[in-house]
Amino acid sequence: MRVRIPSVPYLNQIRALTVRVRLAPSPTGTLHLGTARTALFNWLFAKKEGGLFLLRIEDTDIERSKEAYIKNIFDGLQWLGINWDESPTIQSERVNEHKQIIKTLLDKGLAYKCYVSEAELDEMRETQKRNGLAPKYDNRHRDLTSEQESEFIKLGREPVIRFKISDQKSISWNDLIRGEMTWSGKDLGGDMVIARRAPSNSIGDPLYNLVVVADDSAMKITHVIRGEDHLANTAKQILLYEALDLNIPVFAHTPLILNSEGKKLSKRDGVTSISEFKEMGYTSEAMANYMTLLGWSVPEGINERFKISEISEIFSFQKINKASAKFDWDKLNWLNSQVIHEMSAETLLAHLDPLFRKNGWYLPSREWGIHLVSLIGPSMVLINDGVEQAKPFFEEPELSNDGKKQLEIKEAAAILKFVFEKLENTDDEFLSKEDALDLINQASKNCEVKKGLVMKSLRAALFGTLNGPDLIQSWVLLSRFSKDRTRISRFI
Ligand code: GLU
Repeated sequence: MRVRIPSVPYLNQIRALTVRVRLAPSPTGTLHLGTARTALFNWLFAKKEGGLFLLRIEDTDIERSKEAYIKNIFDGLQWLGINWDESPTIQSERVNEHKQIIKTLLDKGLAYKCYVSEAELDEMRETQKRNGLAPKYDNRHRDLTSEQESEFIKLGREPVIRFKISDQKSISWNDLIRGEMTWSGKDLGGDMVIARRAPSNSIGDPLYNLVVVADDSAMKITHVIRGEDHLANTAKQILLYEALDLNIPVFAHTPLILNSEGKKLSKRDGVTSISEFKEMGYTSEAMANYMTLLGWSVPEGINERFKISEISEIFSFQKINKASAKFDWDKLNWLNSQVIHEMSAETLLAHLDPLFRKNGWYLPSREWGIHLVSLIGPSMVLINDGVEQAKPFFEEPELSNDGKKQLEIKEAAAILKFVFEKLENTDDEFLSKEDALDLINQASKNCEVKKGLVMKSLRAALFGTLNGPDLIQSWVLLSRFSKDRTRISRFI
């Protein structure tokens, strides 16, 4: 079969159609769960479409933006397995382009300088409130004469720059998640400020909506996927695209994430940033899996437990709910336990060993570590549970109430004495499973008690409590440090 080699213009056309999406975080805080979920949806869509996922750091709020937050955002995305294409765009480096665009709007008569003072704006809003009206700029400086302008300048007033928004304008777009959307120009708060106050002969700091349109256009973004809290911004941004004669991207607004009380998830809910989830012991795989389920319904026949790399093929906006997503700790915990239970002992140990070391706990051998994590792994929900559960193998445990009661049983001391003496008289360096079983049997016979009583007493003496993983295996591990003897000797 002959393959037709496309001509160069055709290739260019394909290139122009490549999906380009972006995440545009502001580095004024750590990577938030909602932002990470937005990143995931963007990333999945880019993968599905064979497109590119880009990053833009929106650092124009100089006072609140911090280098450490940029690092936290990069680290968090990488941890989740969300990698980006091209080098990130740094918004603050593009300020001249932004100002140039504002100048174009001023030149076209689509924007103007507004000298209304803050006090006048407050007074205007107060009057609106008294009359039961929504706060809205009344466009009073839209048509100033040059004489009026000179008067304000003489008074020392510095203007903001406003973009004209006609009350009569109707703005519509076909949202990939929410379907047909329409906004009325009269509901957008009046002419929009696009640059902060500055002396009249200059252009002040450009503001969010203007800057986003300028950057999305420069980055050739084809689809803007972001939280539904940006709906009104989208309406305003479409007006700017039209005014500047730029291609309008496709929009998709994802549902908000709510807490269990149905309120928007916020700092008050405790953990909200990805690094905090990591610190608590959630795995990146469970987090990415769970966040995808926050709003996206798995198509029929597909398991809810997946790796994000496996589902990009089947990801689609049709399956994203319009309704808000409720954060469900039980489901996240279930997914995390699944991920841990599926891990090989080697992988689990690789997660836990650095945490053990932080506590000054060092493995006597790799093999011992592998045994330990195989023993505790099945009951772990969080990675950090492993630290809690491994603790009695490294540090002398406190005696809990149930352990104490067990050791108060009259036969307990005799049982422990018998086992202790046997241990003292063996030459073997380590206890084997068989040795341990044998000792339990002997103690049961010798002290004329049931095996269960021997085991419970041993468990209480060795680990301070009656709960825990398999006793024989735990005892064998503990004997590696001869800690079993010291612990038993405390109760004889
Ligand atoms: N910096 C904005 C935010 O973090 C970006 C919004 C957008 O995607 O346009 O909310």
